[in-house]
Amino acid sequence: KRIITNEIRQEDIDIEGSLRPQSLEDYIGQDKVKERLRIYIEAALIRKEALDHVLLYGPPGLGKTTLSNIIANEMRGNIRITSGPAIERPGDLAAILTNLSEKDVLFIDEIHRLNRTVEEILYPAMEDYALDIIIGKGPSARSIRLDLPKFTLIGATTRAGLLTSPLRDRFGVICKLELYSNQQLTRIVNRSAKLLGVYIDEEGALEIASRSRGTPRVANRLLKRVRDYAQVRADGRITKNVAMEALKLMEIDFLGLDQVDRKMITTIIENFGGGPVGVDTLAASTGEEKNTIEDVYEPYLLQLGFINRTPRGRVVMEKAYRHYHIPFNE
Ligand code: ADP
Repeated sequence: KRIITNEIRQEDIDIEGSLRPQSLEDYIGQDKVKERLRIYIEAALIRKEALDHVLLYGPPGLGKTTLSNIIANEMRGNIRITSGPAIERPGDLAAILTNLSEKDVLFIDEIHRLNRTVEEILYPAMEDYALDIIIGKGPSARSIRLDLPKFTLIGATTRAGLLTSPLRDRFGVICKLELYSNQQLTRIVNRSAKLLGVYIDEEGALEIASRSRGTPRVANRLLKRVRDYAQVRADGRITKNVAMEALKLMEIDFLGLDQVDRKMITTIIENFGGGPVGVDTLAASTGEEKNTIEDVYEPYLLQLGFINRTPRGRVVMEKAYRHYHIPFNE
């Protein structure tokens, strides 16, 4: 996987837990989402009820797991973390559900990847806090209903449209997480540097932030790499120059783009006249998966205004031509 990917890499694991903000106060950015959640959480606490089920969607690394942990903290419940592909059989989900307590959060990452039979267990669980189980086989089979504790399901996915509509309809709160601004990412880098005990100045933090593709996970990963560089090649302090040298070594340009981005964009320009080109063709010609292109790499290129999605496919915009010093003809 690329160093600038927003999907989790092995090297992220050791710091990811310790850098996670624990309260809404500490969670930087996503102001609209935070404001809504604050109100719903407070209301649920006043009524002494569980929070409505929450669907969080957006590209990886934007803080969906982090936010779910915070929601559980704020509700003063525990969190149980699992993922769509990890729950193979209905019985697996039934076991998880019956072990929950009131006000607990059940976090299901990649919830769009639940299989159908498992998903059907969730419907009555979400709607009525009930578990329907079938006892026996054939004509003598009967269904009994077990009560479940009043819990909150938090589902995470890259795109809300990947969910079936019966599942999506059962979420009371649906929140979209947006890519972070450079200013917000600078605050995240500063906060993480403090927790990691490394000195960084404001310009150094901005340099890392502006190459992090709007993604806190990438920001933290780059910070960790730059810290290594600073320790070995400088005096351990991260300044703008140190950050620039370290990032140059990683072959990440000043917008956070790497060779794969360059290849994708120059392929569209050179082989497809700048587009439109279908994402399938793009996947085939770059060797990346279609879904990875759509959910992981494209959102940032769209935000930069480097490409545009049209009904007929992707088109490269003038800004990208300029970035790569390629002449642009209307
Ligand atoms: P996701 O579940 O969306 O893939 P995570 O919640 O695992 O993303 O976040 C990845 C990392 O980014 C976490 O280790 C966390 O420290 C950091 N992070 C995410 N969102 C924020 C935020 N709003 N403020 C500070 N750090 C954040």
